[in-house]
Amino acid sequence: MSGSNARSNAIRAITSYKPDLAPLNYADTKPTEIYGSNVFSDKVMKERLPRIVYKSLRKTIEQGVQLDPSLADIVASTMKDWAIEKGATHFTHVFYPLTGHSAEKHDGFLSPDGNGGVITEFSGKMLSQGEADGSSFPSGGLRSTFEARGYTAWDVTSPAYLMENSSGIVLCIPTAFLSWTGVALDRKTPLLRSNQALNKQASRILKLFGKKTSLPIISYSGLEQEFFLIDRNFVFGRPDLLTAGRTLFGAKPAKGQEFEDQYYGVMPRRVMSCITEAERELYKLGVPVRTHHNEVAPSQYEIAPVFETANLAIDHNQLMMTVLKKVAKRHGLHCLLHEKPFSGINGSGKHLNYSIGNAEVGTLFEPGETPHENAMFLVFLVAAIRGLHKYGGLLRATVAAASNDHRLGANEAPPAIMSMFLGDQLTDILEQFRVGQVRGSKGKRLMNVGVDTLPPLPADPGDRNRTSPFAFTGNRFEFRALGSSMPASASQTALNTIMSDSLDYAATRLEKLSGGDPEKLHAAVGKLIQEIVEEHSAVIFNGDGYSEIWHQEAERRGLPNYRTTPEALMVYTSPDVVDLYSRYNVLSRQELKARQEIYIEQYCKTIRAEANLVIRMGRTIIYPAGLRFQQELLRACLDMRALNREPDTVLLDDIDDTLRKLREGLEHLENNVDMKIEDPVQEAHHKCTVVIPAMNAIRTLADHLETIVPEDLWPLPSYQEMLFVK
Ligand code: ADP
Ligand code: MG
Repeated sequence: MSGSNARSNAIRAITSYKPDLAPLNYADTKPTEIYGSNVFSDKVMKERLPRIVYKSLRKTIEQGVQLDPSLADIVASTMKDWAIEKGATHFTHVFYPLTGHSAEKHDGFLSPDGNGGVITEFSGKMLSQGEADGSSFPSGGLRSTFEARGYTAWDVTSPAYLMENSSGIVLCIPTAFLSWTGVALDRKTPLLRSNQALNKQASRILKLFGKKTSLPIISYSGLEQEFFLIDRNFVFGRPDLLTAGRTLFGAKPAKGQEFEDQYYGVMPRRVMSCITEAERELYKLGVPVRTHHNEVAPSQYEIAPVFETANLAIDHNQLMMTVLKKVAKRHGLHCLLHEKPFSGINGSGKHLNYSIGNAEVGTLFEPGETPHENAMFLVFLVAAIRGLHKYGGLLRATVAAASNDHRLGANEAPPAIMSMFLGDQLTDILEQFRVGQVRGSKGKRLMNVGVDTLPPLPADPGDRNRTSPFAFTGNRFEFRALGSSMPASASQTALNTIMSDSLDYAATRLEKLSGGDPEKLHAAVGKLIQEIVEEHSAVIFNGDGYSEIWHQEAERRGLPNYRTTPEALMVYTSPDVVDLYSRYNVLSRQELKARQEIYIEQYCKTIRAEANLVIRMGRTIIYPAGLRFQQELLRACLDMRALNREPDTVLLDDIDDTLRKLREGLEHLENNVDMKIEDPVQEAHHKCTVVIPAMNAIRTLADHLETIVPEDLWPLPSYQEMLFVK
């Protein structure tokens, strides 16, 4: 099929599209019945498990107490019966290797009984621990030192669930993935470790303030997910979208997003049914999806659940990405989770709303009603300021990937400089502490307060800032630099760990300053705030994060600006990060080094694959299209000459010139893409500074061709079609 045929076929398929799925019916089956119906939830456990087993399991879930292994058999057999009743035939440990995807290996419940029949089998051991061949997953040099075998260990805090596929139902058990010597090979293990560190340090602060709780302090995460939905037919005509998840070519459409008529607009019907069906699937899995809306770019959407404990929210986000992709297909759509599928059009992010606390104490980033509560709030707030100032580079590193480099700093997503938006009122109050004269809250009546009677704080900072990577939004921080396709675990782990470090520092300092005397606590808090603001306020910035002035100002303030992934990834093994992660037992030097190696390798692989695709598409699709037009123009010139008329050759010259440069560009890229470079860091640098610019140069030429080659000769679906034909 020639390219232009593929295009017109795609458009015909879309315009004659008829949904073959009946609309969802919530009248017969209520959403409340569907919600969590595929989860081995607290309710199911309570109903089915013997009381004593249930209680013990709850204790493990809530307090992180180790599960009595003798109970695992009972839990497993109950879980199996429940799953089989619901139609499951297989089970799997789901784990989260460093590839960024989740991994599964399905195992049947059936075992031969020796008499030609079968029995179902699922023991406590099969539930709690599985063996996974670690050698098929990236381990960044850990494999040579350790055994290739890895094992998966049940994460009791994330409930098991049933995944429905067209071919059957599988019981899925979320797990951590480790080597036999206990080295973390996944994204979940460090997150769980960082939660423990956070609990320990945050509890010290609560204790100082006399705040009692029977539950551990945990971190929460509310993850807003952006994505694109375009018609599937276009994707088959775009090898770049199909394999790289983004367009490597494509001229800007005549109409882009400049009218801002898409944001919060009415969703097209097909998109609406796709998203509501995805939500229904997510309801079944107990994912508390709450909002959906049109995003800024054409064909871009967002879906967001209610926040949950971080570990669960992050597992649920992985499920959300899987479900969106799967359900989109059923509606003839393709879900693009890539950070920048269309150049020149807004990319997609994933906002991580971060807070800490528990069901008893609420969120600790929430200003309180009394001066005493506010004092505690301010301690948590300045701890975050100190943490971001000291370890902003680490947070930046957790969002480093080839795909996110197209977004960060491109005037739509926050810049690569990590700064904090606090709003004017809080900034003003902190400044009052710094100069040692606390008067009160700006815009409110002035209060005569010393450092030991703190001013009432604004419950809502009021102003909103969308250009800051890390914004305080009243009772949480919103981290906006995460890419849409990325698991949120590494960022959440970093946030937990830098908070642990700062709370540790604050607790030790307050203990020293107050000498353990509660009467002296408020004065100590005043001093602590003063010190931290004095030393770390450079990280606070309430202005426009997109502006050039900020880039200069940030540099003057000494804030790191890692513009590209290879630069940012170096932070993982910097002495202060190694020290930080080792002190709180989150990741050892060796584990950090392994991660760095894996991410560098992934970066190189991504760029290499994209560059090869550019070469292939350039040679077999784009160059030939230009050549065809060149032939038409030549024929027209010859015809003119035959009639003794002087042809206008301006366009022909342009085509000649562009095609020649295109051919040269492709040769240059080909010479560079596979250049042997031994050191992976050097290779990443080369990819970043030589290969990417070479790809971009080719793209510019190709996109120019697209604007002059006749429509019927152009083989690739255009931006116009992909983004606006729905
Ligand atoms: P926005 O105004 O940024 O679109 P929303 O009100 O839709 O924000 O909330 C975004 C996300 O923040 C949701 O997932 C929400 O549940 C979550 N969120 C709200 N409060 C908290 C909190 N205390 N901690 C973590 N996440 C929270
Ligand atoms: Mg938001």
